[in-house]
Amino acid sequence: MELDLGNVVDTVTVMLPIPAPRPYSYAVPQGMQLAPGDFVQVPLGPRLVAAVVWDESDDEQAVDPKKLRPVESKFDCPRLAPEMRKFVDWVAHYTVSPPGMVLRSVLRAPAALDPEPPLDGLRYRGGQPERITGARRRVLELVGEHFDGEDYLAWTRSGLAHAAGVSASVIDGLTKQELFEPVKIPASAVVAAPDLQPASHRLSDEQTVAAEALVAEAQTGEFSCTLLDGVTGSGKTEVYFEAVATALENNRQVLILLPEIALTTSFLDRFEQRFGAPLAQWHSGLAPKMRERVWRQVATGQVRAIAGARSALFLPFRELGLIVVDEEHDSAYKQEDRVFYNARDMAVVRSSLGRFPCILSSATPSIESRVNAEAGRYRHVKLTSRHGAASLPALSTIDMRAHPPARGKFLSPVLLDAMKQAVGRDEQALLFLNRRGYAPLTLCRVCGFRFECKNCSAWLVEHRFRQQLQCHHCGHSEPTPEACSNCGTLDHLVACGPGVERLAEEVDETFPDARIIVLSSDMTGGVSRLRLELEAIAKGEVDIIIGTQLVAKGHNFPLMTCVGVVDADLGLANGDPRAAERTFQLLSQVTGRAGRAGGDSVGLLQTYAPEHPVIAAIASGDREAFYEREIAMRRTANLPPFSRFVAMIISGTDKRETESHAQALKKTAPKAAEIFLLGPAEAPMALVRGRFRYRLLVHAPRSFDVQAYIKDWLQAAPRERGGIRVQIDVDPQSFL
Ligand code: ADP
Ligand code: ZN
Repeated sequence: MELDLGNVVDTVTVMLPIPAPRPYSYAVPQGMQLAPGDFVQVPLGPRLVAAVVWDESDDEQAVDPKKLRPVESKFDCPRLAPEMRKFVDWVAHYTVSPPGMVLRSVLRAPAALDPEPPLDGLRYRGGQPERITGARRRVLELVGEHFDGEDYLAWTRSGLAHAAGVSASVIDGLTKQELFEPVKIPASAVVAAPDLQPASHRLSDEQTVAAEALVAEAQTGEFSCTLLDGVTGSGKTEVYFEAVATALENNRQVLILLPEIALTTSFLDRFEQRFGAPLAQWHSGLAPKMRERVWRQVATGQVRAIAGARSALFLPFRELGLIVVDEEHDSAYKQEDRVFYNARDMAVVRSSLGRFPCILSSATPSIESRVNAEAGRYRHVKLTSRHGAASLPALSTIDMRAHPPARGKFLSPVLLDAMKQAVGRDEQALLFLNRRGYAPLTLCRVCGFRFECKNCSAWLVEHRFRQQLQCHHCGHSEPTPEACSNCGTLDHLVACGPGVERLAEEVDETFPDARIIVLSSDMTGGVSRLRLELEAIAKGEVDIIIGTQLVAKGHNFPLMTCVGVVDADLGLANGDPRAAERTFQLLSQVTGRAGRAGGDSVGLLQTYAPEHPVIAAIASGDREAFYEREIAMRRTANLPPFSRFVAMIISGTDKRETESHAQALKKTAPKAAEIFLLGPAEAPMALVRGRFRYRLLVHAPRSFDVQAYIKDWLQAAPRERGGIRVQIDVDPQSFL
């Protein structure tokens, strides 16, 4: 018998960015060589989609290769590294999501799969034009200056015109006379390569010990996770820059995750000062073209160091060798959309799959990370004092029962007095209130009607400056009415409670000569305006800053010596198991803004419950006491990280159907003795963007395989009909 080799068709496993439970099989066309990690284009229904050749796995179903559709083409792009493929599978497994939905985060810049096209350029060939003019002379002088011994430098047409200060038609005239020849200029790097000179300043003894520990980890090239735990201003950034330098010296790429990358100019400046080149950046604010270039250059290895928001974890690194998670406790690391993941935790996983170190840095570490450090799973490197002359602010509470504000006002005379002193010394004061707008609630004095969002369970927030009532959950806004929409009475609407705009009004009355600024995420002008305002503050062009949590993060205000927390109790009221931790972190970060440049400074907390253990711990400045107490409480109450939660959020547009789906879902839960099922209950945010929400909570011991449990459950679950959606949130951060 003869073998009919012509009929043997090669097949390949391909992961597509779609919510399918596993990769698909495709036929490999004659002559195409494919290996796992290759980026390919494959047909899917009537479309062609970008996808990745995946690793074979055991549970693949055999399909008749002749029935398979062929791979359309292979991209000219470096392969996705094996540890990235493992990472995608790992995240999918942990979050109980389809792996293709995780892969979507990798394929965020499809145009980058093709090589960057070279630019059209011109190169001077020598010689003189028939007729010389002033403009022509300027061009020829410029190109003549740039000669590398062999060739003249190539320019783009517009680049040359701009540099010589002439119009492009001058260049065209010279090109016509064949003084220039067309050439291709290779696409340039998005950032220059970092320069590995040693740091210019000396580290303190404590910093040196910490830096040596981190450098040693970076040197081994093995996986480890270190919690870099030090008060604000203790030099954590300086210290981890040393580990960054080591990884770069060893020819590895470095990723620094930041919670609010768009706002951290001062951080980017510091990196540039230390490494002589800017950091590449990855965040949602990048222009599409830039995104593509950054993605591509991370894949080719041209970008060596990059700072990014959580999605940067899914960039196609070639030789990643260090991840730093700055402000590791920040809740912005949690993605709560489609695939629910915590980038801090996934950074540790990514490091372990890639066998390199991970550094988690924070002045107020998460309870999880502290527990991991205490259990020896993470190394614990501490910095206990502020660098140089800077000392931490003296913290105290203001008992609002004893020192109440004036009628209809929100600032205690004690706080106003401290602000007066700071401003009188030409220093700055900061008021912190985590409430945007003018007032969190508007009601009618005649009938008691409260203005509520039609799509969400939330009050409409008055923004007086824009003369709008806004919902902070769905973005709905309406003009502030003159009459009550319930009883029609004119001019009887009252604002209840303070927002930052209302505080600004109060401060303005008390300090008519002071320069006041309100910083919140909804100020007009967006990120670029905010950057300018932050610079103005740093330069001392502002006396009093009133801000939401936007001001709590990482900014360095050298003149700030007085920080007032307007409502320290605000975060403690809700039933969230992390309320104490969150309040501690936020208030410590805010008060940590003061005194960073030395001299005396104060942090004052307005509270109606100064004896509350969390408030007392912050005011005492005894962070270790806070951690000890909070960890003990979590252990006794068997709360995370000593146990595990998985939330299921069931949402739909019809309330009764959504509730009955939630009930039916609960009935199909597999029996397991170790598991507690709570709910379904109406979510605290029972209505968001017109969708009704119910929550089920799975409470499991740490050792229990919750992923397998949820997978089994979803197999048995009732079909999701009529727009009902069930979202899985492993390790939920938010309980709303
Ligand atoms: P953290 O990250 O812990 O808040 P930073 O690294 O931002 O602390 O340091 C706080 C400030 O002190 C920064 O302005 C930094 O440049 C400065 N600083 C820290 N360590 C040193 C040092 N060894 N020499 C000079 N300046 C330092
Ligand atoms: Zn709304």
